[in-house]
Amino acid sequence: MSDLQHPELPVIVIGAGPAGLAAAAQLRSRDLPFLVLEAGHVAGAAVREWSHVRLFSPWSELIDPVAAELLAGAGWTSPDPVAYPTGGAWADGYLQPLADALGDTVRLGTKVVGVAKRGRDRLVDSGREDESFTVHVETASGEERIAARAVIDASGTWTGPNPLGGDGLPALGEHAAADRIAYRIPDFAEPGTRARYAGRHVVVAGTGASAKGALIALAALADDEPSTRISWLVRRASVGAAFEGSEDDELAERGALGRRAQEAVASGPVRTLNSFRTSSVDRADDGTLTLTSMDGQVVEGVDEVIALTGFRPDLSMLSEIRLDLDPVLDAPRRLAPMIDPNVHSCGSVAPHGAKELAQPEVGFYLAGMKSYGRATSFLTLTGFEQTRSIVAEIAGDHESAARVELTLPETGVCGGSGTFDDDAVSGGCCGTSAGPELITLGLPVRTS
Ligand SMILES: Cc1cc2nc3c(=O)[nH]c(=O)nc-3n(C[C@H](O)[C@H](O)[C@H](O)COP(=O)(O)OP(=O)(O)OC[C@H]3O[C@@H](n4cnc5c(N)ncnc54)[C@H](O)[C@@H]3O)c2cc1C
Repeated sequence: MSDLQHPELPVIVIGAGPAGLAAAAQLRSRDLPFLVLEAGHVAGAAVREWSHVRLFSPWSELIDPVAAELLAGAGWTSPDPVAYPTGGAWADGYLQPLADALGDTVRLGTKVVGVAKRGRDRLVDSGREDESFTVHVETASGEERIAARAVIDASGTWTGPNPLGGDGLPALGEHAAADRIAYRIPDFAEPGTRARYAGRHVVVAGTGASAKGALIALAALADDEPSTRISWLVRRASVGAAFEGSEDDELAERGALGRRAQEAVASGPVRTLNSFRTSSVDRADDGTLTLTSMDGQVVEGVDEVIALTGFRPDLSMLSEIRLDLDPVLDAPRRLAPMIDPNVHSCGSVAPHGAKELAQPEVGFYLAGMKSYGRATSFLTLTGFEQTRSIVAEIAGDHESAARVELTLPETGVCGGSGTFDDDAVSGGCCGTSAGPELITLGLPVRTS
């Protein structure tokens, strides 16, 4: 039996991304009332923003099994399990059909701006556990309050890219230079974007997979437009460890991405600047940018910056909810040690579920990318297992909620977000520290 009151109320799922839609499929399979609230005007709105990036996971790792059953009933044909889709193909071939199959339980254009216990701000203890949730939303036609039995926040972190500044704050002058800084991996195949970067001096900051993808794509651009210059800003003392793990990565495409980036750096027009923690961005008289690091290194004549330094969750809509988050990662405290790049081994993150994700506010869960806070090793498969377990717990099926039904691929890609320049004291699992941010991104698709 479920421990939660108000079985007549829906479970609210925030976000119609891969994790939120998987939660919805699980809720449907257990006949629990639910609503998915999606800020965007399409399912998978965040994924669609990186439509041009090819995933390093094959289709077999991108489709929730329960969602597949639901889709099969709606006449859907499963894509080739060994093929690697782009973000756009993932959204077209799976996320949108799934949202369609879920029908009017998925409300698009509905942005959640607040979650609370009904009639109680965060301070009030009295009757708190038995009270339902209130979810405050904004739509084109105004505001609305929706009562909920439980809330699964699967709103991702896409809206919260980290700044360029080496201390996590925006560098001095960063905001003023916003017209020259991109915080997402550009679509270099798009003619306007290509023209923006071709023949320019482009700075790439970050050492995660997205930065590697950008370096590979820019190196290819420089083959066509030899006047293109690329400066790669690396916060650590040496770049070598950023490529370690590629050989061991059971995610073959992610390993290949690392190797291709290494080749691009070794043979291409990439100038690497180590220990570069950006402190300021200044605009010169000729309109170009000058970037200065905290230890006084300077990069001049910069036309464009691509800052790919990870993401952080937006917790503002949860200010009235009692959360127990790790102070470093902003991830649920019980989950944090399993994913903390300061301490955990580079082996797979153990599958986990309701127990690790539970919050002091009974019935409230973080799921998907958002549950990892600032940690960057999130895999979609993990999100599917999280939502399976959370929904089982909401349904009162504690035995199923506690069961682990997933084996994740090993990854040779180490953590290290929290490590500083000294590789010898790295907390990274392969005896090295990786980059300051290790987001699991693929390579932008090149059509030309
Ligand atoms: C470029 C890129 C490539 C990746 N490649 C892989 C890969 O190959 N393999 C892999 O396993 N993982 C990969 N990942 C990591 C991860 O699996 C994906 O990011 C995945 O999309 C995360 O799913 P999610 O549902 O948690 O979050 P999201 O996909 O971000 O979905 C969150 C949804 O919530 C909505 N939302 C946000 N705020 C609100 C709000 N306030 N109210 C209502 N709705 C809201 C958003 O519009 C969005 O639709 C990649 C990530 C990126 C960024």
